Amino acid sequence: MAASAVEIRLPDWMAARALPAAPASDEVCMRLAIAVAAENVARGTGGPFGACIRNDASGEVIGVGVNLAMPSGNPLLHAETVAISIAGARLGEPGGVTLFTSCEPCIMCLGASHWAQVSRIVSAASRVDAHEVGFSEGAGTPQLRAEMVARGVVFVDGVLREEAAAVLRRYAGQGGVIYGPKS
Ligand SMILES: [Zn+2]
Repeated sequence: MAASAVEIRLPDWMAARALPAAPASDEVCMRLAIAVAAENVARGTGGPFGACIRNDASGEVIGVGVNLAMPSGNPLLHAETVAISIAGARLGEPGGVTLFTSCEPCIMCLGASHWAQVSRIVSAASRVDAHEVGFSEGAGTPQLRAEMVARGVVFVDGVLREEAAAVLRRYAGQGGVIYGPKS
């Protein structure tokens, strides 16, 4: 029989981690996304990506995620989709939400952001940085992104890019598995 439930289990070290005080600035949120990406690599609990979601009215961080694709066996569990899942019903609270992600979202995470009604997406490392270490994000993101921009979603790229790209290189350099389709 097929599984009747799917669990998203964050690494124990994430549960122990304190969230930034509200209101959290863009820089604080991006540093959090990159820090959890780095810790995910250092502790061997998943891929080199981190993300968080902030309610822009209160400045409260309502979800934090790391890439769990490999340890969970679930290819849907990118940092962004995990953060969106953790935020869950709180995504609908007034004020709009910003997604901070340590790397430009792939097409799946852009699609998830669309359905989560994320109003702003701030990213650090670029698709090019991800490709350079072997991740193949596929085509289609420019088209979806353009449609989201037309709907009013704001994109901010390259915030603390070098710090996030360094996490990708550290992961690849220590032999981390490059999951997903091959280039
Ligand atoms: Zn993704």
